[in-house]
Amino acid sequence: MNHDDLRIWSKRAADWAHDYHAGLRDRPVRAPLVPGAISRQLPSVPPEAPEPMEAIFADFERIVPPGLTHWQHPRFFAYFPANASPASMLAEQLANAIAAQGMLWQTSPAVTEIEQVMIDWLRQSLGLPEGFTGTIHDSATTATLSAILTMREQALDWAGLSDGLSSQPRLRLYASAETHSSVDKATRIAGIGQANLVKISTDTSLSMRPEALDAAITADLAAGFRPIGVVLCAGGTSVGAFDRMADCIAVAKSHGLPVHVDAAWAGSAMICPEFRPLWDGVEGADSIVFNPHKWLGAQFDCAVQFLRDPTPQVKTLGLRPTYLETAGREEVVNFNEWTVPLGRRFRALKLWFTLRAYGLEGLRARVRNHVTWARELAAALAQLQGVSIVTHPSLSLFTFALHDDAATEALLTRINDDGRVYLTQTRHQGAYVIRVQVGQFDCTQDDVSMVEQVVREFL
Ligand code: PLP
Repeated sequence: MNHDDLRIWSKRAADWAHDYHAGLRDRPVRAPLVPGAISRQLPSVPPEAPEPMEAIFADFERIVPPGLTHWQHPRFFAYFPANASPASMLAEQLANAIAAQGMLWQTSPAVTEIEQVMIDWLRQSLGLPEGFTGTIHDSATTATLSAILTMREQALDWAGLSDGLSSQPRLRLYASAETHSSVDKATRIAGIGQANLVKISTDTSLSMRPEALDAAITADLAAGFRPIGVVLCAGGTSVGAFDRMADCIAVAKSHGLPVHVDAAWAGSAMICPEFRPLWDGVEGADSIVFNPHKWLGAQFDCAVQFLRDPTPQVKTLGLRPTYLETAGREEVVNFNEWTVPLGRRFRALKLWFTLRAYGLEGLRARVRNHVTWARELAAALAQLQGVSIVTHPSLSLFTFALHDDAATEALLTRINDDGRVYLTQTRHQGAYVIRVQVGQFDCTQDDVSMVEQVVREFL
């Protein structure tokens, strides 16, 4: 395969992609397979001789699509979306063709500078004040890890980086149980330890209780522990919980602690001014992550971290050996110093294409439709005999259940085996509940109504 062949096969791939998307509604959303069904179809040893692309492509068409859960299916209501707008796909094709590695400004100035401008476009789009800069990570998990490593080092005056943690005081981090497990993971990886992630109780609105946060920090200080920071939740994964930003940030600041906000899913909705009261006070945070690869349409992977001041994070994560120096250009931003990996993909291109191809108005219209349709669907399900709405729509996410866990789980299995829609589950206050999130880029009101039809059939 050479570049002339690539030209022919990329056109074939583009046609395939078009037909794949056009036919998605005819496929079951979730792969209806048993484990091993795909791997059994592949030879157990790699090929010694080159194979013709005709054969490779034919195997792709035969083996791969039946083994996919179709994340771009308009009736994908599971987890959170991983939206890929057509404009984003085009940008990714170009980024693939360029295959640049943007670790330094000089390894591709366009990669760094378009990223800087996109961060600022997004800052404005979400209504964040001037002064926040930021970077693009692969995932919210990496952004949160970066923020927590920075909190750790700020609290230790950077002694952790040089001396390790063994002789340091016991570090403490605070979050509610509604925050995503990536906070737990980051706490473990950062050497803070799961036992030192203090889960603060929530009130009836599912916000962290600010007075409980204050009491926990005060008690830890009295015990000789070293509080390092607070992670707040803006749109939790389970049921869409929001911490009351202004009140919780005020408590953190009264103890001189930095705050990181996880808005991985809900951040995209903040392009609509009417939803911003949900994270009122967020401008007091030091770090905010949101995933345009979830709801906005700039496909996976693309996680944006806004930083009030990048200096502490760069001091924590940045290293500049001679082979990474940029002679005579010390003023440039080298984004590898803001993140965990050295190498960086050209992720900003899909943001540029997506924001321009749909405009903020086009993207807002989608988010608003999703929120409206989710509310309508919850209202319709509430009318069905035996169905109760357990958590009401938080933006476009709600949960429902039947009279007991076993019945709810059996209903979910029937729905997903049927394949017309795909829903997932969570546990809320001990009960097994079915989650519905509406957010797929191409879904219509009819697609959302299909959930009610399927639930009604299987009740
Ligand atoms: N935070 C929240 C609220 C999430 O919902 C998720 C994933 O769904 C994450 C963090 C982790 O995201 P990522 O896959 O980008 O690491």
